[in-house]
Amino acid sequence: MEAKNADREQVLHLLEEEGGVTGETVRKVSKATGVPEADVWGTGLFYTLLRGEPGQIRACQGLTCKMAGSDQLMVDLRAEGKDCIGVSCLGQCDRAPVFLDAELELASPDRNRGVSPSHEDQAIDLAAEDDQSYAGLAKARELGSEAVIEQVDTSGLQGRGGAGFPAGFKWKSVFGQADTERYLVCNADEGEPGTFKDREIMKRRPHRLIEGMAIAAATVSASKAYIYIRGEFMHEIRTLKKAIAEAEPHLDGLEFEIITGHGAYICGEETALLEAMEGKRGMPRLKPPFPTEQGFRSKPTLMHNVETLACLPALLTKGAEWFKSRGRTEAGPKIYCLSGHVKVPGVYELPLGVSLNELVEHAGGYEGTPLAFSPGGASAGFLPMDQADLALDFKSLAGVGSMLGSAGVVVLNDTVDLADAAAWQAQFFEDESCGQCAPCRIGTRYLRQALDRYRDSGEASDLVHVKDVAWEMEEGSICGLGIAAPLPLTSAIQHFPEHFAARRAGGSTESPS
Ligand code: SF4
Repeated sequence: MEAKNADREQVLHLLEEEGGVTGETVRKVSKATGVPEADVWGTGLFYTLLRGEPGQIRACQGLTCKMAGSDQLMVDLRAEGKDCIGVSCLGQCDRAPVFLDAELELASPDRNRGVSPSHEDQAIDLAAEDDQSYAGLAKARELGSEAVIEQVDTSGLQGRGGAGFPAGFKWKSVFGQADTERYLVCNADEGEPGTFKDREIMKRRPHRLIEGMAIAAATVSASKAYIYIRGEFMHEIRTLKKAIAEAEPHLDGLEFEIITGHGAYICGEETALLEAMEGKRGMPRLKPPFPTEQGFRSKPTLMHNVETLACLPALLTKGAEWFKSRGRTEAGPKIYCLSGHVKVPGVYELPLGVSLNELVEHAGGYEGTPLAFSPGGASAGFLPMDQADLALDFKSLAGVGSMLGSAGVVVLNDTVDLADAAAWQAQFFEDESCGQCAPCRIGTRYLRQALDRYRDSGEASDLVHVKDVAWEMEEGSICGLGIAAPLPLTSAIQHFPEHFAARRAGGSTESPS
C-alpha cells in the first residue's frame, strides 16, 4: 500500500513522539502512516536525534568546541559514569565547549558573550527591545506585491544563509509562477559550525522574524508559513511559539507552523530541508527545478534564512536605499558570529564588508597570537592572517577561494595545529555527508583517513592524493557540501604548508601541495 503524502509527512514527527527509532516504534509509525517498515527505519536512522539512546549526553565536536577542550570534557563526563556521545555541532560556539544533557538542555560555562549595542542603523538591532508594531507589514500591505518586490530587489538584499543569492530574484520567480498554491519556508536549521546568529535573532528579536515572514508571505501570496528549526533549539522554539501567538492580531489569518529538525546538518541545504519536511531522508534534490518553481509538495516555495527575513521590517519602513547604504562593500548590515581565540565571542551586527581586524576589535581583541581564521563556517576553509584586512563579504572572499557563507567567523591562534583543525573539519563533513553521491561519500572519508594517517605517521606522502580527490569531489558532487568539504584541508595546505610537512627525521618529503 502506498502512503498518502500527508501521512508520509508525519513519519519523522511520529518517530520523535515515540522516542526515536526502535523495532516497536517503527512498527507503530509504519502502521499509522502506511509507509513500509524498512522505509521508516531508513528514514529515521538518517537523523541523529532519532537514533540515539535515550538519556545520552551530546557533546559538541565543532571546531570551536574542539579548540576549547571538548575532548577533555567528554573524558570527564565519561569518568563521572555518564553516557556521552560526540555530535557535529550544537550551534553554541560562543559558549564553547558545550554539551546537551539528556533533556536536550544546554550545559556549558556561560562565558562572557558579546552582542553589538543597539543602534538605529542596524536592520535587526539585536540589543534593542523587540517591538510589536508591525509597521513594516502595514507598509508592505499599503505598497502591494509588485512595489514590495521592487523594494527588495533595489535594496540588493542577498540571502544571509550562505549562498548570498539575490533575494529579489527569488521573490520574482515565486510571484511569477502560474500555480497559485504557494508556501513560505523559513530555514532556521542553523548547523554550520561557527554559526549561531539565527539562534540569537530568534531569541532576542522573534517579532522581527515573524513580521518578515508575514511580509514575504503576503507579497508572494503564500497560503502558509513554515519555520523549519533545528531540534536542539528548545528555548528558541518556545520563544517563537509565544511570538506567533502575540502576533496573531497582525497576521490577517496567515497560518504558521513550526517543524523541528532531527539532527542532520545537510537539511540546511534548501532541497534537503524540503525532503525532511515531506517526511523523508534529508537528501538534496537535483536542480532544476528550483524550489521557487517546485518546492514543498512540488508547489512554488519561497525559502529564506532567518536573518534574511528578519531584515525585511526595517527594509520596508526605512526604504531600499537606506538598507543598501548600511553596507560597506555590499548591501545592508550583517550579523557576524565570532568565536574561537577572541576575547568576547558573540554576535556583532556591522556593515557588510568589515574586515576581520575590525570585527575582532568589537570583540575586545584577539586571544594570544592569531594564526588563521575561518571566515564563513567549515565550508569556508582557512585563511592566513595577512587576509585579516580583507572585506568579509560574499564577493571578496570568493575572490580568495573562500566564502562568507553564514558568516560564522572562527579565529585560531598559534597554539592550534592546522593539521588537527583540518582533520576536525574533515570528520565533520564525513559524518554529515548524506551519502547519495559517490565522490562526496567516498571522498570525505578518504580525506579524513589521509589526515589521520598523516597525523599518526608524520609522513607528508600520506597527503599526496588530496588534490586529485578534492577535484573529483568538486566536479562530481550535486550539492555544496561535497564541493566545499575538501576546502579546509586544501586551503590549510595552501596557506600553511609547514603544518603539513614531514614531521619525522628521515620522513618522506613528498609534498601534498
Ligand atoms: Fe549528499 Fe554529499 Fe551529494 Fe550533497 S554532495 S547530495 S551531501 S552526497
